[in-house]
Amino acid sequence: MTSQTGAEMDLYEHQARELFEGHGIVVPRAEVTDSPKEAREIARRLGGRVVVKAQVKTGGRGKAGGVKLAADPAAAELTARQILGMDIKGHTVGTVMLAQPVDIDREFYVSYVLDRAVGRFLAIASAEGGMDIEEVAAGRPDAVARVHIDPAEGVTSAKAAEVTEAAGLPPQTVDVLVRLWQVLVREDALLVEVNPLVRTRQGQLLALDGKVTLDDNASFRQARRDEVAAEHGDPLEAAAAARGLTYVKLDGEVGIIGNGAGLVMSTLDVVAGCGARPANFLDIGGGASAQVMADGLSVILSDPAVKSVLVNVFGGITACDAVAEGIVRALDTVRLTKPLVVRLDGNNAARGRAILDGHRHPLVEQVTTMDGAARRAAHLATAV
Ligand code: GDP
Ligand code: MN
Repeated sequence: MTSQTGAEMDLYEHQARELFEGHGIVVPRAEVTDSPKEAREIARRLGGRVVVKAQVKTGGRGKAGGVKLAADPAAAELTARQILGMDIKGHTVGTVMLAQPVDIDREFYVSYVLDRAVGRFLAIASAEGGMDIEEVAAGRPDAVARVHIDPAEGVTSAKAAEVTEAAGLPPQTVDVLVRLWQVLVREDALLVEVNPLVRTRQGQLLALDGKVTLDDNASFRQARRDEVAAEHGDPLEAAAAARGLTYVKLDGEVGIIGNGAGLVMSTLDVVAGCGARPANFLDIGGGASAQVMADGLSVILSDPAVKSVLVNVFGGITACDAVAEGIVRALDTVRLTKPLVVRLDGNNAARGRAILDGHRHPLVEQVTTMDGAARRAAHLATAV
């Protein structure tokens, strides 16, 4: 697939699975190698029996003999030797991935793909995964659900539930669909696909095979952002950039976390208007997952100049309840030492506020307006 802009980059399966794992999608344990001898060692580490998988940027590896089960480490070495160097649809196999085998009960298909005709992402899902989705679509079009995603809303739990229902997927897949959307948004991807997403006999959901196509223009932007941060020299800026966040160190006392450049900029203005100076700001972007919030808070709190933190979020792609859950989970991993003022507005704001109220952290307070929240954070930062 090539676009007019040309700048797309397919990832290998093992790279795709790393992104999935980073966003909380469960994948089998696996390691990559280009050496049959090492394949034997890896198999031993993974418990003996492994699936040996050719790492090439094309589908249909299974049918081409590039995915094979090996019963023990010796067999893994032999199988790796067979698969390495193999030609699959014009791609020479340079590395193999060895993965812990999974006891499959059912195989599903889920993906988000840019529908260029309408300029929106499309969720495609089917309860008949494993094989080529094009084949399923051709033979049994009813078995493949297609749902357009509203770019302002993104994939909320409600949207994911709509997709699973349309495709006849079990309710557990809702969580995976939400996380897969976060992969797409956070990693600037044009396509994310899991085929198969499997349910094991033990009832666990795992992404057994994945495909991700990144928007290379975006990856250039990200690399440039990392570079700029590294040149600038602030270690926290580099740490934030490494996590895909935009962090800028300033010289005041109020730490600021917001989503979206516009909102963050106006938050800076409002705080300054309240007689305090921003200590730094962090733009957590569109996919404010729990992990992003935890990362963001730990970055902001490690700045010793920070006296109070203002979280200003307008729920759009990420709904406020997800942000609130992110804050709650962040508070489990980050020890809060300074007061945190939270303002949630927009998509699911009431639910988000209720979640934070329920958590009742002594250092967390909520203010419903941006001006009020800024005033409160400024007061907490400047009061002695
Ligand atoms: P593809 O052919 O390139 O799409 O490669 P996949 O990674 O999707 O593997 C093809 C098929 O091999 C899957 O649909 C599964 O049916 C099967 N497979 C892969 N890994 C495992 C595993 O751990 N256990 C079992 N039982 N089957 C597997
Ligand atoms: Mn596959």
